[in-house]
Amino acid sequence: MAASDCAVCLETFNDTDCVPARLPCCQRETSTFGVCLGCLEEICNHYTVEAGRVGKCPRCRERLYVSADGVVSKAPQPRGKCRMCCQERVLLDGGKCDACILGSQFALTYECDRCGRHQRIPHPMWRYQTTPGEFGTSTWACHNGCDDYTRWRVIEADLGRVPAHDAPEGWQMLDRWLEQLREERARVARMRPEERRDHGAVFIHRRQGCVVS
Ligand SMILES: [Zn+2]
Ligand SMILES: [Zn+2]
Ligand SMILES: [Zn+2]
Ligand SMILES: [Zn+2]
Repeated sequence: MAASDCAVCLETFNDTDCVPARLPCCQRETSTFGVCLGCLEEICNHYTVEAGRVGKCPRCRERLYVSADGVVSKAPQPRGKCRMCCQERVLLDGGKCDACILGSQFALTYECDRCGRHQRIPHPMWRYQTTPGEFGTSTWACHNGCDDYTRWRVIEADLGRVPAHDAPEGWQMLDRWLEQLREERARVARMRPEERRDHGAVFIHRRQGCVVS
């Protein structure tokens, strides 16, 4: 049986204010996961590193584009050399890849698995950690003395700064992220119309209180 309510705002789908979004990624007759257009637009406006109505599916992280009339499609994937990491990647705004944009917004402190020392890394290394306590599966250069590519994990004090919408599945933060969205939706619903107009300009790094470097 298809989902009868939105996984984010928890409202029952209808054809006025909680219209189910037709997801090109997670839409199946049998899918128990559904999200409404309003919530998906919220994701594309506020929980995204991209401009232009593009954001990620809260379930599978597929990049989605929502047109002004509510049609959801897979976002275009223009590839090229990232300005920051110089790797061949899908390029988002400013010629940078998703990892470089997110990494500079959330440059957290990590612990080296070899020397145990700490280092600030402008790359989302948490993505390679199966769980918050484990060292990642991908390496980064340790400048503390190892002088080699080592494995890393987010230090405990910074775990709360890992964006819930980007944490790996094993971190079990999906519920927290849906919860954040739900609160945001409720906050917008309480706004006066003129406040809502300005709401469109709020970006993720401001909400999270992070410094963009
Ligand atoms: Zn919803
Ligand atoms: Zn999906
Ligand atoms: Zn990059
Ligand atoms: Zn080291």
